[in-house]
This record gives sequence, C-alpha cells and structure tokens, in this order.
Amino acid sequence: MRFRFNEISPHGNQFELFEITGLEHVELFSLQGESRFSFSLKRKSDTQVEMSGTLLVSAVVNCDRCLISFAYPIDTSFHILFETGDTDKWQLKEVECTSSEMDTVFLDEPFIDCDDVFRQQIQLALPQKKLCSPECKGICNRCGDNLNVVVCDCKNTITESPFAVLSRLKKK
Ligand SMILES: [Zn+2]
Ligand SMILES: [Zn+2]
Repeated sequence: MRFRFNEISPHGNQFELFEITGLEHVELFSLQGESRFSFSLKRKSDTQVEMSGTLLVSAVVNCDRCLISFAYPIDTSFHILFETGDTDKWQLKEVECTSSEMDTVFLDEPFIDCDDVFRQQIQLALPQKKLCSPECKGICNRCGDNLNVVVCDCKNTITESPFAVLSRLKKK
C-alpha cells in the first residue's frame, strides 16, 4: 500500500489494516494469527508527511540458540516524519531535529510505502537476541540434538579440552 504525498489530507486520515502484505521475501520473521496496524497520515506541507501508528502482530522467528521457531508478540507504536525535497535543506533539518522524539525519514520521491514501514517497525521491535525462552539450552554442538528436548551423551565425552588432546598427541 502506497500513498503519494498529494493524496494525503492536511487534516489527517486514519487507516486500519488487518492484513500486512509485502513480507514474502523477508527472511527474519513471518507473521501468524491476527495482525492489526492502525495509523494516521497527515500532510504538514508539500514536502512533509507525519505518520503515527500502532502495530499489533505476532511475529514468528527462529531461536538464536536452538533454531526452533516461536511466536514473539509485538505491540509497538511509532511516530515518523517523512520528508522529501531539497537535499541541502534535509541536512540542516537533521541537525535541528536531533532532540525530537520523532524519527525523520528522508525520501527520494514523495510517496510512503506502508509495507516498508510495517517491516521496519517489526524489525525494530524484535530483540537483538531472539530466544525461545531465557533458559533455552540450545543445540549440542557435537550431535546437533536440541538439548531442550533430549539429553544427549556428548557432554560426558567432551570433558577433555582440545588443548589437552593436542598436548597428549605432541608427547607421543
Ligand atoms: Zn531456543
Ligand atoms: Zn550431543
């Protein structure tokens, strides 16, 4: 879903989407169940559009330790100012806006791609380290078994460090 700046009302428009598209090529996550994306668009000037919204989705991601996929609920809100136009003016604006809580996004062309915004907001809301549970035991680096599900025997055999093995070999 795309909006040209000149299609957006200066008085503001409210939108509500229950289906998020354009995620086919995203590898980091997929979505499950109901999604709800509400936002407002308001044209501040010919080169500025303000977007505020909330995003409620259940993202499915893979655990960084055991690689099993799990649902990660996201409930986030955002406030973005989209700007297009004179590049020299942007640089000046950027300095002025440093203390603002609003994110400023500079666009080459005067249109907003909502799919991009969804995707970015979900990515921003995901944690750096994605764990199915804080106690996730991960996978055994020897046999590849998921240690949350099975207890493999490998632990008993890797008590000897590789350095100990190496020094023994050298002595021979
Ligand atoms: Zn895990
Ligand atoms: Zn193992």
